[in-house]
Amino acid sequence: MTDKPLADLPVVVIGSGPVGLAAAAHLVTRGIRPLVLEAGPTPAAAVAEWGHIGLFSPWKYNIDEAARGLLAATGWQEPVGDHLPTGAELIRDYLKPLAETAELRDAILTNTRVVAVSRVGKDRTGTSQRGSTPFLVRTQNSDGTTADFQVRAVIDASGTWESPNPIGQSGLAAPGEVEARRSGFVTSPLPDVVGRDREKFDGRKTLVVGGGHSAANTLLALAELREESPDTRIGWVLRRADPASVYGGEDKDGLPARGALGARLRHLVETGVIDVHASTTITGFSTGGDDAIAAETDGEPVTLHADRVVPATGFRPDLGFLREIRLDLDPIVEAPQQLGPLIDPEYHSCGTVPPHGARALGHPEPNFYIVGMKSYGRAPTFLMYTGYEQVRSVVAAIAGDHEAADRVELVLPETGVCSTDAGSSCDAPTGKPGSVDLPTAGAPDAGGCCGPAEPVVVGIPTGVEHGRSEEAAAD
Ligand SMILES: Cc1cc2nc3c(=O)[nH]c(=O)nc-3n(C[C@H](O)[C@H](O)[C@H](O)COP(=O)(O)OP(=O)(O)OC[C@H]3O[C@@H](n4cnc5c(N)ncnc54)[C@H](O)[C@@H]3O)c2cc1C
Repeated sequence: MTDKPLADLPVVVIGSGPVGLAAAAHLVTRGIRPLVLEAGPTPAAAVAEWGHIGLFSPWKYNIDEAARGLLAATGWQEPVGDHLPTGAELIRDYLKPLAETAELRDAILTNTRVVAVSRVGKDRTGTSQRGSTPFLVRTQNSDGTTADFQVRAVIDASGTWESPNPIGQSGLAAPGEVEARRSGFVTSPLPDVVGRDREKFDGRKTLVVGGGHSAANTLLALAELREESPDTRIGWVLRRADPASVYGGEDKDGLPARGALGARLRHLVETGVIDVHASTTITGFSTGGDDAIAAETDGEPVTLHADRVVPATGFRPDLGFLREIRLDLDPIVEAPQQLGPLIDPEYHSCGTVPPHGARALGHPEPNFYIVGMKSYGRAPTFLMYTGYEQVRSVVAAIAGDHEAADRVELVLPETGVCSTDAGSSCDAPTGKPGSVDLPTAGAPDAGGCCGPAEPVVVGIPTGVEHGRSEEAAAD
């Protein structure tokens, strides 16, 4: 065990996405040394994967207060408030400059994947003096080495991007799916069809699997590719019987750009550009290297053919490396116990979760917190801005400032991005990024799921993309 007093050890932040970097900024602001461990080759590696997607939340809701403080000292030009950036712009104009500040750059280790979190000399069953024993964080690095770090607290901000829901039924991978993902036959979610990943799709047949807006995003991109390359063929597999719910509000949508894209998707389906396989589940992938995919339509076996399959079936948290940590999770959505019922998409179609902090995010394990996208478990409605309030409070709790930890400081406007009653998602297609006025929650044009205006709550649409499987949505 280290000889250093616990308070002299750093606090580990797992992941350097928007919320992990914000946590690090709050730690610095409180005079606590952060150690940010990032699996990817660059900070915000997950956002970089979906860099071609336009955000639905404008700049003014994407920047953390403590991060703004660090950046202000560097002469950074804050991006304009109402513009909707792409993921790539979020990195270029905010996350990269933040990661390069003098306070953070040496604190971030990239290519460093956390593979286990435990307590020094104690497994999960060791109770005596547990809270005063340093955490042991084990990493596997891209050069093949491993390392152990001893730290005073752990903030897990590792997101869910790397653990998509399986395509198969019952929340399980279909036979052959693991191999199909490994070979690239099943791609990553939200590929950049008209950009970086174009050659995988150009002139080929692609099946998009899923019934939410991630699926819609990819289908529209494939249709754009097909305009230039007519041999490109597009299939859409979804469990529900009618794709209409994915079209959203169309001309009634609170976000006109999103409504227009819903209408475009409908047109592509009705004109036969997109070949729809409704009421269909995938039951197996060929391991013989051919393009046959076993499926069931209305319970009857069918065979589908494709060169590529794009999964758009949502995400779930990776809890494997937390096996030695005492967690208290909601049994349904796998979010921290108190938070789960507030975000369960079965009951909260608009994601109107009250701001929350260390108290709601705590676990039986002292000084251990899951924050950010991962804190929402399988629920799809997470907002960066909510994450920034989470880490402000969590860092205050780690610093021993319980008064600040309990204070709610999130002041969100009485606006929201609500779906129609069709359901939607935080990655609803926004088309070419630009400036969009958010509708007022509860306003007639705000969409069917919005209740009356709720101050300090931003309504974010739910869907199936980030966690809840399409199967659950179809039930
Ligand atoms: C397509 C898309 C669009 C979205 N649009 C919006 C939007 O407009 N507005 C909004 O508020 N929210 C949006 N979100 C939701 C959410 O705010 C983002 O996903 C945001 O990036 C979450 O931040 P995070 O820091 O929690 O996680 P992430 O950004 O996912 O970052 C997690 C980091 O942890 C790293 N990591 C993972 N596992 C490990 C490990 N074991 N060890 C070390 N590092 C690890 C990853 O490489 C990654 O860099 C969107 C999400 C998606 C997918």
